Amino acid sequence: MSRPFAVAVYCGSRFGDSPAFADAARALGCLIGRRGATLVYGGGRVGLMGTVADAVMAAGGQVVGVIPQALMDREVGHAGLTELHVVQTMHERKRLMAERADAFISLPGGIGTLEEMYEVWSWQQLGYHDKPVALLNVEGYYDALLEFHRVMHARGFVSDSQFNALLVDADPARLLERVSRAAAVATAPDDYSKI
Ligand code: AMP
Repeated sequence: MSRPFAVAVYCGSRFGDSPAFADAARALGCLIGRRGATLVYGGGRVGLMGTVADAVMAAGGQVVGVIPQALMDREVGHAGLTELHVVQTMHERKRLMAERADAFISLPGGIGTLEEMYEVWSWQQLGYHDKPVALLNVEGYYDALLEFHRVMHARGFVSDSQFNALLVDADPARLLERVSRAAAVATAPDDYSKI
């Protein structure tokens, strides 16, 4: 039997300045849980990370957390998950998350969130995986970043296909639908041997 559809969510370890961010995290978590899918995430209880995990669990989904030992205190390792993997390094965390996920969605967040999104988008460009990479643009939080992606594309540093590969939407339900459709046609196996 194949395992349930699994979505990695990258998001802030803080809440940001608007309740719309937590609302979107809750809405996405609820949608993931209701479809019986699995959330793969950083394993913490803080900020939007905890919000999305709690929402998936409450809606009946599975949650796989992956947290480095050194962050167990700072990000408050979540004790109520389906699986919590405590790993040694940030690299192990990001690799295990990528291996366990069928798709990647970033919510509003800070430096860690951006680093994770660009890493999986660049791994896609390098052919290390063929899974969809997506951005939930809540309240226009990422508008300035999306504008810069257009600059990178227009100035010839990002190919048409890679520019278009990042799925962007403001609506959690629509984005999750687009991501699951894209994941269903992604066939190339992962190869993280060169990271
Ligand atoms: P932030 O968006 O900065 O609140 O971080 C969100 C998550 O990204 C947290 O779980 C961080 O531990 C994680 N993260 C991933 N990679 C890094 C990195 N290279 N530096 C800092 N945080 C990171």
